[in-house]
Amino acid sequence: MMKQYIEEAEAALLHTYNRYPVVLDRGDGVYLYDIEGKKYLDFAAGIGVFALGYRNEKYNDALKDQIDKLIHTSNYYYNIPAIEAAKKLKKASGMDRVFFTNSGAEAVEGALKAARKYAYLKDGCRDHEIIAMEHSFHGRTFGALSVTGNPHYREAFEPMIGHIRFAELNDFDSVLAQVTDKTCAVILETIQGEGGIYPASEDFLKKVRTLCDERDILLILDEIQCGMGRTGAMFAWQRCGVKPDIMAVAKALGCGIPVGAFAMTERVGSHSLTSGDHGTTYGGNPLACAAVSRVFDLFEEEGILENVNRVGEYLGTCLDKLAEEYAFIETVRGTGLMRGLACTIPVGGIISRVLEKGLILINAGAQVIRFLPPLIISRENVDEMVGILRECLDEAEG
Ligand SMILES: *Cc1c(COP(=O)(O)O)cnc(C)c1O
Repeated sequence: MMKQYIEEAEAALLHTYNRYPVVLDRGDGVYLYDIEGKKYLDFAAGIGVFALGYRNEKYNDALKDQIDKLIHTSNYYYNIPAIEAAKKLKKASGMDRVFFTNSGAEAVEGALKAARKYAYLKDGCRDHEIIAMEHSFHGRTFGALSVTGNPHYREAFEPMIGHIRFAELNDFDSVLAQVTDKTCAVILETIQGEGGIYPASEDFLKKVRTLCDERDILLILDEIQCGMGRTGAMFAWQRCGVKPDIMAVAKALGCGIPVGAFAMTERVGSHSLTSGDHGTTYGGNPLACAAVSRVFDLFEEEGILENVNRVGEYLGTCLDKLAEEYAFIETVRGTGLMRGLACTIPVGGIISRVLEKGLILINAGAQVIRFLPPLIISRENVDEMVGILRECLDEAEG
């Protein structure tokens, strides 16, 4: 049955992904089921999206209610879910102004536009530069791709937007070396996700923050993967108190409804994008914002951050133990429920094998196994995951 659907998919969809040979059908809690009824423990959460787990009744009901009321209005009018969602995002982040988008890449686009406009309003010049990090990932649209530090993703699509300079994460001197009179922003992921789970160090973030303050450069933090509770703080930058001027968020923001946002401080909000500068037809529509609004409520009601801190630490301990046992595991990176097992061998085979055994994991680069489970997982789920993974690590070693 599955084989036939896969053939149909390959005949109809543009081949931009090498998909795993599984047709997923439904989810329940931290488990997914394929159309043949096989059960999978999910440690990827749709790439860090489904934080609340599947079939969360309160979340689903909020969406169903909103569907029956009003799904879309356009941004020419106000709607209550968007107002509620914006207020809750402001409160959780300490940012002052929010723009809702439909994806992460679009949130990055908006952040870049806001930064350029901020600089343009200061000096009227049109040649401002942005510093981004090597090995970063910010999305697939032209602006976001232009600041993505992976030449392989960019090459066939050159030219990029231009005036982008790259520095090394956690090497402050390399950032300093790229600063010019034209620099308007530094953009970085607080924890690099796709690049292999590399956290920005507190020291590095603090130095970049100080540099930005001294030169009136805007600090844009991409919290699309590491934000929304994944590290045990609502946003990863809150763990070290380095506040961005602009923040991009998406993935778990809507827990499955396609929605993102960029948010900024009042200082940037009142000196950048204004009427007519930016827009979106769908962005911030009542359905997406009903999801966002409910997600923030449920994070509090269900004690999500507490769970991440508890179970995240346990996950770290378990992964450290694996790293000690297997010679081909180099190190464990990350924090909370965003972790990477960095190996000295390609991990694609291991990920395919755990999938056969009913465990969903993903990679981050060729040699890193990535762990982004729903934020509701328990220690027992971690034990179950480690059990399956261990079998496959044994095979890889043997
Ligand atoms: C996923 C991701 C993006 C892009 O988000 P899309 O919704 O896929 O456009 C940008 N930045 C980071 C850090 C991401 O993890």
